[in-house]
Amino acid sequence: MVNFKKARERMVQSQLAARGVHDERVLEAMLKVPRHLFVDEALRDQAYSDHPLPIAEKQTISQPYIVALMTESLKLKGTEKVLEIGTGSGYQSAILAELAGRVFSIERYPELGYRANSILRKLGYKNFIIRVGDGSLGWPDDAPFDGIIVTAGTPQIPQPLIDQLSMGGRLVVPVGDRLAQDLFLIRREAEGIEKTNLGAVRFVNLVGKWGWKE
Ligand code: SAM
Repeated sequence: MVNFKKARERMVQSQLAARGVHDERVLEAMLKVPRHLFVDEALRDQAYSDHPLPIAEKQTISQPYIVALMTESLKLKGTEKVLEIGTGSGYQSAILAELAGRVFSIERYPELGYRANSILRKLGYKNFIIRVGDGSLGWPDDAPFDGIIVTAGTPQIPQPLIDQLSMGGRLVVPVGDRLAQDLFLIRREAEGIEKTNLGAVRFVNLVGKWGWKE
């Protein structure tokens, strides 16, 4: 039987801190959130391993390091309004719920959205809302957002997401082809958009109006 708390400590030390994730709040959140509850029971022993894992609907829960890297790049202090595109297992949503004021998350598969919602509720999170739909359109009714995180790869940055960023807001998004992408950090400043490449990544496809066709 795996000691999940110990596995989490090892994950944070060897996969995150050792690779340069320094934001204490991000490290603490990843020490706290029980990642094994977000994966199938048969895969729980691997929940803290250094790779993504399959979830329902042929989707994935991202590698812990990628979750940490993307989260850290949003520079959350605790009061922000954050939008996540691609709820998947709900693990990243839980990390965001620990670190931001309010979390809005969109998933295109109803089954995944409902399951994530139920796990987050059971864990006691109240500052989040999950919606089923095409996240490439963003969440215009509640825009603007201080942070937007896209956890699926897209051929182009969806314009609605840039439009829904607050001034000074940050958007992190994998852009590239269907099999490989670069992770971009976009900052919206008064003078315009600033874009930084955070390195190569591999995500499942963002399928929607501003992403890939089916
Ligand atoms: N953040 C997730 C987690 O912590 O488990 C990982 C998500 S997985 C890598 C990407 C997710 O994006 C999948 O669940 C997929 O169904 C979803 N997705 C793809 N295109 C989407 C779209 N247009 N709108 C919303 N969700 C989408």
